[in-house]
Amino acid sequence: QEKIAVKNPVVELDGDEMTRIIWKKIREELILPYVQLDIKYFDLGLEHRDATDDGVTVESAEAILKYNVGIKCATITPDEARVKEFSLKQMWKSPNGTIRNILGGTVFREPIILNSIPKPIPGWKNPIVIGRHAFGDQYRSTDFVAPGPGKLQLVYSPADGGKPTVMDVYDFKGKGVAMSMYNTDDSITGFAHSSFKMALAKKMPLFMSTKNTIMKKYDGRFKDIFQDIYESTYKSQFEAAGIYYEHRLIDDMVAQAIKSSGGFVWACKNYDGDVQSDILAQGFGSLGMMTSELITPDGKTIESEAAHGTVTRHYREYQKGNETSTNPVASIFAWTRGLKHRAGLDGNEPLKAFCDDLEKACVEVIDIDGIMTKDLALAIHGKEMKREHWVVTDAYMDSVNNKLKQKMAARAN
Ligand code: NAD
Repeated sequence: QEKIAVKNPVVELDGDEMTRIIWKKIREELILPYVQLDIKYFDLGLEHRDATDDGVTVESAEAILKYNVGIKCATITPDEARVKEFSLKQMWKSPNGTIRNILGGTVFREPIILNSIPKPIPGWKNPIVIGRHAFGDQYRSTDFVAPGPGKLQLVYSPADGGKPTVMDVYDFKGKGVAMSMYNTDDSITGFAHSSFKMALAKKMPLFMSTKNTIMKKYDGRFKDIFQDIYESTYKSQFEAAGIYYEHRLIDDMVAQAIKSSGGFVWACKNYDGDVQSDILAQGFGSLGMMTSELITPDGKTIESEAAHGTVTRHYREYQKGNETSTNPVASIFAWTRGLKHRAGLDGNEPLKAFCDDLEKACVEVIDIDGIMTKDLALAIHGKEMKREHWVVTDAYMDSVNNKLKQKMAARAN
């Protein structure tokens, strides 16, 4: 069978540990036998990041900006223990952070839905795609312990030398705490565009949540910027796609999300996104089924990856020669989501169809054939789980490959 031709390159970012092992098998057995791809390969494995003084991470991000598609394996973010383990020159920064600083944009997480896995929120039949505004607010705040009675003020001094604005915040009668935080119109605007673009790409309605009833100016600014951009730039496209945008009070939004059947994009402020995305991951079963896509404000560039890490615990077993059953689905979807974006940019229907087939194969092997990795078997059987309920990673992936072949053959006839 002839391979599917792809006109433009994609950028591949290799990674570490268990996911690196799985990654290679995905590339060699599930992608390259079927797709003729020009891959710009960057090895973000920790050894090579160290050898290049982390230059490879910066180069890979620049390549993603150039080619518009980045497909990334999970990578180690070094801590003290990793510096020792790998005899690193430095405690290199998180590659995801470095890449995000270069690309800008917003990260959205999306669960892959299975019918066979019982969910803590049974009503969630469709994905909830959650985006976190990863700039400012609490994460760049200045906080302070007031040692005793005293006056707290907030001062804004205009750069042009104009008169400072001085605001009285609180008169401490005793010990206490205080905090000051900020955000910028630029960052909120980029966040808004990324969110609208993601909702259009997923063809799902968009909600943006704030607490603007309490933080009238601060959160009010988020609400206003989103609303203005929606009306000036996206409203007609949303209507044409049969979707809509609405601002929601965070408390209403949480209640609505729990009662809903899913099927929407949720743009969260920084802290809300931190908390809510972990609730969502739990609610949908397994980290092995959670994907992550960074989208730039112009909607042209995507970097996709699994939301989980390198699964070190399983890698230690693998190193000892023990059998491992790590869920490869989110890593496979990192490829399909990246390639689907390529397909969209290039107008490549066969490539899109291939990605749909591969995604369906992953889900059907679990839902219909009952072949799955241990994390999913545990979610179904709990304490009653037995060895025959799960297979090792390779066996699952081989089943996916067989199912993919059947689907492609059916499509060819
Ligand atoms: P992890 O996500 O790798 O694993 C945490 C636990 O979740 C595992 O022990 C396992 O029980 C479960 N799990 C996660 N993914 C699974 C899968 N595909 N199949 C089955 N079970 C799965 O997080 P961690 O152990 O905290 O971190 C390990 C390494 O990954 C660290 O070095 C960290 O820096 C890195 N990390 C990278 C990224 C990234 O590249 N995006 C994200 C998180 C962590």
